[in-house]
Amino acid sequence: MEETISKNFIEQIIEKDIEEGTCKKVVTRFPPEPNGYLHIGHAKSILLNYGLAKEYGGDFHFRFDDTNPTKEREEYVESIKADVEWLGADYDHHLYFASNYFEKMYECAEFLIKKGKAYVCDLTPDEIREYRGTLTEPGKNSPYRDRSPKENLQLFRDMKAGKYPDGSKVLRAKIDMTSGNMNMRDPILYRIARMEHHNTGDTWCIYPMYDFAHPLEDAFEGVTHSICTLEFEDHRPLYDWVVQECEFENPPKQIEFAKLYLTNVVTGKRYIKKLVDEGIVDGWDDPRLVSLSALRRRGYTPDSIRKFMELVGVAKSHSSVDYAMLEYCIRDDLKLKRPRMAAVLDPIKLVITNYPKDQVEYVDVPNNQENEEMGSRKVPFCGELYIEREDFKIERPKKYRRLYVGNEVRLMNAYFVTCTGYDADEDGNVTTVYAEYDPESRGGNSPDGRKVRGTIHWVAAPFAKKAEVRLYENIVDEEKGVYNEDGSINLNPNSLTVIENAYVEPTLEEYGPGDSFQFMRTGYFCIDSKDSTKEHMVFNRIVSLKSSYKPN
Ligand code: ATP
Ligand code: MG
Repeated sequence: MEETISKNFIEQIIEKDIEEGTCKKVVTRFPPEPNGYLHIGHAKSILLNYGLAKEYGGDFHFRFDDTNPTKEREEYVESIKADVEWLGADYDHHLYFASNYFEKMYECAEFLIKKGKAYVCDLTPDEIREYRGTLTEPGKNSPYRDRSPKENLQLFRDMKAGKYPDGSKVLRAKIDMTSGNMNMRDPILYRIARMEHHNTGDTWCIYPMYDFAHPLEDAFEGVTHSICTLEFEDHRPLYDWVVQECEFENPPKQIEFAKLYLTNVVTGKRYIKKLVDEGIVDGWDDPRLVSLSALRRRGYTPDSIRKFMELVGVAKSHSSVDYAMLEYCIRDDLKLKRPRMAAVLDPIKLVITNYPKDQVEYVDVPNNQENEEMGSRKVPFCGELYIEREDFKIERPKKYRRLYVGNEVRLMNAYFVTCTGYDADEDGNVTTVYAEYDPESRGGNSPDGRKVRGTIHWVAAPFAKKAEVRLYENIVDEEKGVYNEDGSINLNPNSLTVIENAYVEPTLEEYGPGDSFQFMRTGYFCIDSKDSTKEHMVFNRIVSLKSSYKPN
């Protein structure tokens, strides 16, 4: 596939800054809020920021934006770290916690107060809203707006010292209550809230607001390009105001890009959390989700996700990407790297009546037909095999080339067999299929040039290992769209199919959790990292073999 050579708009901005000398060394950051697990959208931000730092020989900072104590949890910090590392975004020693900057942020607030650029306001939340005006009407100045810097400083220090109840006062920036941009109408910088913080405990009873904290965090760390998603575009003037009024020498620059959305896929942290909390899925790493831990458990690789982000590109306007593109990327990644194994998901027995009883032989099976370097393995073959139920038909459908009485097919890598009969139970379900093999066709090669048109896979019954296989579909019912009117999710009742009695070839016993394979004809699978044991192996289907997606 062709690589895009043209630079995206962010690269163009960075190169201009380097050329003009305003940027000496590029510093980017990924600033997750530890209030949930990361999802595929975050991977875009991680890889974009990390990629830019690498491309321009700069630094990539990984910072927990943990200034809001309500929702943050230690568990999320650990999972987010694991995900960033898994994606290969090497942050070196640049791991930061925004909560470590509380003291410095506080100093910036005092600095603004002393400059007459911030004031303590006693309006109630309702009054603040009322004074703020609307999109069509300008706001009104707060009656507390003209407090002197001295008075403000004292009040702010008292706020910090815990002299006032929660919500009774706020610190606001003094900007412009008539600004066309609502964010500039004297936004709140600090609020009083007695909340336990996971890092600072109860040291603080005032906490900075996101729009104040974020630009400061970037500035403290010397971030040059603060890349965020489009919903912050309207906040950029405030971002710029904060770093300018706090008089940073090399203020960071905010650049917005479009969020990544997948069509008919639940990506929002909030929605995923709901599915988890309501027990609809088996935790944040349920393989039907697109949280990064779920994708990892499902069998996606960092390479496949990187590839996906390259294909998606970076844009300035919203668009939604088809999930099939992600599937294309994992297929493409595994195709030549992973071995191809035999697994029968819906087994029926095939008995080869002319095969010597109790004989076992070992046939050579290439590990990957498209990659000779992967070598071959020996697989046991005998007179009793399992084959897929759909590979035998009593009545031959049109164009059907697999087993039916009288037809000859190839058992992959083994022999030609001709079907001679079958047993069925009272309900007409086939229980056993009978066939005769041609000893001259060993290796699946025609002894006399005669052609067989069907090839089926198999596992030797006495050697096969019973396994559980899980097949997945979108958790969302795509016909109906993702959300109902009340905000609930349209669930697909068939999003998980559990097959208890699959049979896999014995070679698979040598592999462990997280290992992936192609199961011939049925897709790519990986050994589940949570539920699979040596005794009871569990395989997740990552993706089927066929695709509707074609890259241009
Ligand atoms: P969500 O909206 O899913 O809850 P968030 O934006 O609240 O996510 P944060 O932890 O605040 O999550 O985000 C960390 C970084 O990841 C931010 O810079 C944010 O812009 C970016 N990000 C979040 N979602 C996406 C997405 N869908 N596509 C690209 N970047 C994203
Ligand atoms: Mg957020």
